Amino acid sequence: MRPSLEGGRRLLSWILGGVVLGALMGGISPASGQKVGFLGEIFLNFLMMLVAPLVMTSMIVGVTNLGDFRKLGRIGWQTLAYYIATTGISVVIGIALVNVIRPGAGLIPTEARRSVQRGEFSFVQVVVGFVPKNIFEAMVEMKVLPLIVFSLLFGGALSAAGERGRTAVDFFRAVNEALMKLVHLIMYFAPLGVFGLVAARLGKAGGWEEFGPELSRVLSYSLTVLLGLTAHGALVLPLILWTLGGRRVVTYASRMSPALLTAFSTASSSATLPVTIECVVRRNEVSEEVAGFVLPLGATVNMDGTALYEAVAAIFIAQAYNIPLSPVQQMVVFLTATLASIGAAGIPQAGLVTMVMVLKAVDLPLEGIAMILTVDWLLDRFRTTVNVWGDSVGSAVLERVRSRT
Ligand code: ASP
Repeated sequence: MRPSLEGGRRLLSWILGGVVLGALMGGISPASGQKVGFLGEIFLNFLMMLVAPLVMTSMIVGVTNLGDFRKLGRIGWQTLAYYIATTGISVVIGIALVNVIRPGAGLIPTEARRSVQRGEFSFVQVVVGFVPKNIFEAMVEMKVLPLIVFSLLFGGALSAAGERGRTAVDFFRAVNEALMKLVHLIMYFAPLGVFGLVAARLGKAGGWEEFGPELSRVLSYSLTVLLGLTAHGALVLPLILWTLGGRRVVTYASRMSPALLTAFSTASSSATLPVTIECVVRRNEVSEEVAGFVLPLGATVNMDGTALYEAVAAIFIAQAYNIPLSPVQQMVVFLTATLASIGAAGIPQAGLVTMVMVLKAVDLPLEGIAMILTVDWLLDRFRTTVNVWGDSVGSAVLERVRSRT
């Protein structure tokens, strides 16, 4: 059942109002902005409390609806192919723009002497972490990928059990239904929630007065990232949605807006996941079996915005340090930025940590991260929005592909 369009539009304007008011309040009066942060925390908690059960039940329902492992295998490969292709396109856009605009050229990385907390990142460890050693621990720590792996196997096993698995399948379907109703309810709190989140974060950055100068120091870098994200999010993905997904872009996007605004406010694809599922399944009427599989996986694996940003940031750092990168090294940036985005968790600023891998691959100074640290929280919001948009477009595309094969 799709919520009435009128009601949907009204909610959307309220959420949008929340973001704008939050930016005004946190920007003008940072102290008051931080005071309303508790509203954002409540909203975030509401969302996060649903992530683990929703990932598990929607995956299990999706897999059991699909029927057998062969169908799952087919949609699995198609999903991965879509993810890799779109991520690749976004990285190419980022690399092209940063080479043309050259935002780092002539920039003296003085602040790079400041010490940076170096996060270690190993892709092998990420792969090992796919398999949960304890599903309850994975739930507690909201580790989405291990939960996906477990749910896929469990759903497949339930399907294989046939009639004997029927009761459990019905149970998970009912739980999933109830959780979706909860998401629907929680969305009424979203306007206040996003207001609190935006106001508090901008307040923490010192409002526009303090954050403005920080932003202007790396303005052309920030604009390069934003331009790339806009090109990918407003041109490439809509084109894919229209041609491969067969959807009307404006309608699909406007029905996705609560999820996109939530992504912007929380800077977390995983925390946004319940809203993304609600918008894709209930509003855009993509089937549960496709969305239940494509979206949880996409929230952690498919990050077009993050990949683009990692490539731009790495090459920007090379330019600032005046380290020329050969075409082969740029190719390495392309590959590692794609991998690093796959490895990044769907949480705030995860991309900043996995970028270490990109910098190390082409021998760039890790200290360079200090230059972009202060503006990262803002860019994170934009790239998370594109990440969630990429997953949503993927659902429509894969739904169509599945119905045709
Ligand atoms: N915050 C992003 C997300 O959740 C990841 C990142 O780019 O840092 O999608």
